[in-house]
Amino acid sequence: SSLKPTNFIHQIIEDDLKNNVHGGSVVTRFPPEPNGYLHIGHAKSICLNFGTAEKYQGACHLRFDDTNPEKESQEYIDSIISDIQWLGYEWTGEIRYTSAYFDQLYLWAVHLIKEGKAYVCDLSPEEAREYRGSFSEPGKNSPYRDRTIEENLSLFEKMKNGEFAEGECALRAKIDMAAPNMNLRDPMIYRILHTNHHQTGDKWCIYPIYDFAHGQSDAIEGITHSICTLEFEDHRPLYDWFINNLPVPAKPRQYEFSRLELNYTITSKRKLKQLVDEQIVAGWNDPRMPTISGLRRRGYTPESIRRFCDMIGVTRSNGIVDMGMLEAAIRDDLDSSAPRAMCVTQPLKVTLTNMAEGVEEWFELPAHPKDESMGMRKVGLTRNVLIEQEDFIEEKPVPKNKKDKWKRLAPGDSVRLRGAYVITCNEVIKNEAGEVIELLCTYDPATNGANPEGYKPNGVIHWVSEELSVPCEVRMYDRLFTEANPDGDKNRSFMDCLNPESLVVLKEARAETGLRDAPAESRYQFERMGYFSVDPDSSSEHLIINRTVTLRDSWSK
Ligand code: ATP
Ligand code: MG
Ligand code: MG
Repeated sequence: SSLKPTNFIHQIIEDDLKNNVHGGSVVTRFPPEPNGYLHIGHAKSICLNFGTAEKYQGACHLRFDDTNPEKESQEYIDSIISDIQWLGYEWTGEIRYTSAYFDQLYLWAVHLIKEGKAYVCDLSPEEAREYRGSFSEPGKNSPYRDRTIEENLSLFEKMKNGEFAEGECALRAKIDMAAPNMNLRDPMIYRILHTNHHQTGDKWCIYPIYDFAHGQSDAIEGITHSICTLEFEDHRPLYDWFINNLPVPAKPRQYEFSRLELNYTITSKRKLKQLVDEQIVAGWNDPRMPTISGLRRRGYTPESIRRFCDMIGVTRSNGIVDMGMLEAAIRDDLDSSAPRAMCVTQPLKVTLTNMAEGVEEWFELPAHPKDESMGMRKVGLTRNVLIEQEDFIEEKPVPKNKKDKWKRLAPGDSVRLRGAYVITCNEVIKNEAGEVIELLCTYDPATNGANPEGYKPNGVIHWVSEELSVPCEVRMYDRLFTEANPDGDKNRSFMDCLNPESLVVLKEARAETGLRDAPAESRYQFERMGYFSVDPDSSSEHLIINRTVTLRDSWSK
C-alpha cells in the first residue's frame, strides 16, 4: 500500500534519541512466556521489537518470561526459538530467561521488606480478593500489613525454604489499599508454588509474579523501551513503582500498543491450546492454526508475515484486522515468487482417441508468465488425460449475458488444454449410476500455439497426463471459523462456530511431472486453483500438498 502505516513507537524513540534520554541507545526485548506456540499476534510484537532494534542499530533480546512453571515447557521454548529464526530475526547475545534473575529478584524482594515496603500476608486468596475492594470502593488493609520487618524477613525466608503450603501466605508490596488503580492495592509479588521449574529445577518453591519480574528484568538487561500490549497500561504505575523503589541499574520505560486481532480466528494461546488438546486440529502447527508454525505449514513465507505486520502499523487504538489482509500479503508474495504448475484435484478421465497409445508429446511452458528468469518447465501429454470434474458439464447453463458464457468443456464443444492442443468432446461415457466417468475427445494437431481454424474453443482448462502425472493428496484448507468474531458472543463459545469444511482432503489428485520429489515447503501456483505448498509430511511415495490461499480472481463460471 502507498499509505505509510504509522508506528508511534518509532516517533517516541526518535525523540528519545534526539534528547539523549537513554544515552542514545535503543534496547528492546521480545518476552514470550513459554506456555504455548507463537501466533500471528506475537509476530506483530516480534516485528516491532526486532524491527525497531534493526532500524535504530540497537539491540533486541529474546527473553523467556518463565515465571509460571506449571504451564511452561521445553517444547514451547524450542518452538518459539525456531519460529523467531524462521521469521528472519536474530536476538542480541545469549537467550535470556527471567528465571536466571530469580536470585536477584529475591534480594530485591528482601530489600523492599527491609524498607518496610513489603509484607508477608496470610489472607487466603478469597479473603485477599474481598479485602481488595472494587473500582467503586477502596480496599481494606490486610490484618497482616503491620507485621514488623524482622517478622516479615523471617516469614519470607521460611516461604523460600518450603515451610509453607501453597496459598498459605504470599509476599505483597505495601503501597495503597485505597489507590484508584487496583494494581496498586498491595499487589502480590511472590507466591508459593511447589513446582519443578524447567530451568531451575527444584531450587525454588516461591516464584515472582509477572509484575515484579518484568520491569526488574528489563532493568537488569538495560532495556530502554519495554514495549507491551495495551492491557498492561494499568500496570505501568506499578512497573514504575518497583523501578523507583529498588536499587535497579537502569530505568526502563514501558510503552503499550494495541494487540493484533484478526477476524475469523482467535489469538489466545489458552484457546489455541484447547483446539490442540481437544484434537479439533492436528497440532499446534496444523495449517488452519494462526500460529507461526501453522502459517508456515500452510505455505506462508516469512516475508509475507513481515510485510503484513508492516501494513497494519503500530498504534494505540484497538481494532480488528481483516483476515483478507493477511491473505493478500501471501498472494502478493507468491504471485511473483511461486512457479506455476498444473494439478487436477478431482480428476475426470479424457481419452484422446486420435492419439496413439504409448506416445508422449512434451510441451515447454514458462515456470512463470512474467518472470523469464524462472525458466521453462516440461509438461507431457499422452492419450490418457485427466481434467477437473468441474471443467465439464453435460448441459450448459443458459447464459444471462456474454460474461456468463460457459468457458469450459461440454459435449460437442472445444477447449484448449493449457499450453497444448485444443480438444473437442465427441462422446460422454457414464457408469450404471449415470455418472460421467470418461470423455472421448479428439485433439486438433494444428492448434499447438496457434488458433484453430473455423471454430472457437470455449476457454482454457488445466490438465495432466494420466501416465506422466504424480499422484498426490491435496488438502484444501479454509478458515477455521464460520464467524468473523468467534469469541464475540457470550451466548456461545468459539468451539460452536468451527467451520466443518475447514479441511477437505482430495486423495485422487494428480500434479504435473515436475512435482515428483518436490521438497517440503516448495510453493506453487496451481493455475486457476490458488497457491499451494508441499507439506513437511510429504514423501516421494506420498506427495501431500496444502492449499495456502485461493487466487484473488477466481475465473468466471
Ligand atoms: P496470549 O494471550 O495469547 O497468551 P500473551 O500476551 O500472554 O498472549 P506472551 O507470551 O506473554 O503471550 O507474549 C509475548 C509478547 O507478545 C508480549 O509482549 C505480548 O504483549 C505480545 N503479544 C501477545 N499477543 C499479542 C497480540 N495479539 N498482538 C500483539 N502482541 C502480542
Ligand atoms: Mg504474557
Ligand atoms: Mg497469556
